[in-house]
Amino acid sequence: MRVMKFGGTSVGKPERMHQVSQLITREGVPTIVVLSALSGTTNALVEISNCLATQNKKGATEKIDQLEKHYAQFINDLLKKEAPKNKGEELIKEHFEFLRITQRISLSDALNKDILAQGELMSTKLFSLYLEQENIEHVLIPALDFMCLDANDEPDLSLIAEKIKGVLAAHGTKKLFITQGYICRNAKGEVDNLKRGGSDYTASLVAAAVKASVCEIWTDIDGMHNNDPRVVDKTVAIEQLSFDEAAELAYFGAKILHPTCIWPAQQENIPVRLLNTMQPEAAGTVIKKEAGSTGVKAVAAKDQITAVKIKSTRMLLAYGFLRKIFEVFEKYKTPIDMITTSEVAVSVTIDTDIHLSEIIAELNNIASVEVEKDQTIVSIVGNEIAKTDAVLNKLFAAINEIPVTMVSYGGSPHNISLLIPSSFKTKTLQLINKGLFHL
Ligand code: ADP
Ligand code: ASP
Ligand code: MG
Repeated sequence: MRVMKFGGTSVGKPERMHQVSQLITREGVPTIVVLSALSGTTNALVEISNCLATQNKKGATEKIDQLEKHYAQFINDLLKKEAPKNKGEELIKEHFEFLRITQRISLSDALNKDILAQGELMSTKLFSLYLEQENIEHVLIPALDFMCLDANDEPDLSLIAEKIKGVLAAHGTKKLFITQGYICRNAKGEVDNLKRGGSDYTASLVAAAVKASVCEIWTDIDGMHNNDPRVVDKTVAIEQLSFDEAAELAYFGAKILHPTCIWPAQQENIPVRLLNTMQPEAAGTVIKKEAGSTGVKAVAAKDQITAVKIKSTRMLLAYGFLRKIFEVFEKYKTPIDMITTSEVAVSVTIDTDIHLSEIIAELNNIASVEVEKDQTIVSIVGNEIAKTDAVLNKLFAAINEIPVTMVSYGGSPHNISLLIPSSFKTKTLQLINKGLFHL
């Protein structure tokens, strides 16, 4: 079995859905196809939900009307035969009726997630109708029947594996399956999701669940690049990454992959290929156990980071101080990304401020605390970079003019992380591109 995931831009236009239908059928291999929502849809649904949260009825109605028009045009261009076109119109009508009804109910977390799920539900149903029109045999398998979270809201891989096996077995000799990315059920059985960009995570979880031979992530660029192409002009695709390298890049901001989507594939040692729907013959990037080469491979940046600087003279020669600090973050389920220590101070970074005020209040009982917001983590990732010639030298020479506020090095052989004020991000990524990659 092979898993192929297509992102928003890969299904965002009728002609792209046509391309996808060719890519998934050209080799005749048993395949599970994971689809995102059409590009822009999830953002629109988030806005609709926000309008509801702020009781902005007019705004919500406008946005729903606008989105519905987009879908009406899409169906008109995608489905040329009368029967599938009628079915398409009917099903889109139902989804938009649901969105209009939600405007009369007060918003809860569960309703918000129901709203966000509409994008993937619509894209997969429309694609299925398109395949039907083209006489391509397939089965639409609802992700809500097998994608599930445990009580900690983490994907429950063994239960997913058990459930999906049952679903596939029910379709005997069928070879082509279509399902939704991103959406799932939580431990209470409610509709939930794997957070923004989560379709990559679905693909990797499904691949691990069925022990697929490969997990292909099809997107709008020819693989993982050495730097963020949205920020830096000259970037190049990387041929091969190890699972560890790819996981670091994804976690530290390379948007091409969902932050935690590598572990399921890594657990089952399934190669992940990053490929370009618009340029299918390009080699792309392969992610596997072996790194392929040593040295620095890429840099990524993660924004909206808050630095918490904790200072106490009681830390001097004291043991147990770090434990007390970590317990506070643990209590508020707030993960720490970077950490540095000195004799009397500890600095950590976090990427969510939801419980920041409670965390500061508790830390103030044992130390003095300073907070700096609007920070960016820049991570330089590669294989055995610690052993690579003068990498620190080259890095700091390149970014000489940048006010670096924290450095983390040695935690893993794959990563050097720097903390900088976000206003210096573009400059830093450009300087690293020149200094380390000579681009
Ligand atoms: P999809 O909708 O297919 O999931 P995404 O928009 O989530 O696609 O991810 C692809 C985008 O990620 C690219 O268009 C690119 O702008 C961005 N990106 C950011 N960093 C990188 C990187 N290091 N390599 C490749 N793409 C990157
Ligand atoms: N549609 C979802 C999002 O835009 C999931 C995804 O595309 O991966 O975040
Ligand atoms: Mg994505």
